[in-house]
Amino acid sequence: MADANCLFCKIVEKQIPSSIVYEDDHVVAFKDISPQVPVHLLIVPRVHIASLNDLTPVQSTLLGHIALVAKELAKTAEIDESGWRLVMNCGPHAGQTVFHLHMHLLGGAPMAGKMV
Ligand code: AMP
Ligand code: ZN
Repeated sequence: MADANCLFCKIVEKQIPSSIVYEDDHVVAFKDISPQVPVHLLIVPRVHIASLNDLTPVQSTLLGHIALVAKELAKTAEIDESGWRLVMNCGPHAGQTVFHLHMHLLGGAPMAGKMV
């Protein structure tokens, strides 16, 4: 169910290189190419879902799985105690640039400001 024009599908399929830190049957996690904080990982489902706008009820368990993977990756990166943030951008006003659903895992330094 890969999208031939999708950057993250190509990363999932290992058609283009990335720094993968974790993978399982459902998701792949890799380092963001332009990290905004010391720890900046992206967790993406293997299946192509363009954005949260396209998530279907049958796919909803993916989000819980991504959260559990994020928890483990935060522990591995030793930011579980210092604190971390999960962000999903959906659509233009939120600044989504890659239209394959992904969760940003951010941490490793105090984050300037709180959006919410
Ligand atoms: P968003 O703006 O929420 O759609 O996030 C897309 C993220 O993908 C950005 O933080 C980019 O830095 C990151 N990104 C773009 N291309 C790559 C790539 N080839 N490998 C890893 N991360 C990437
Ligand atoms: Zn994709």
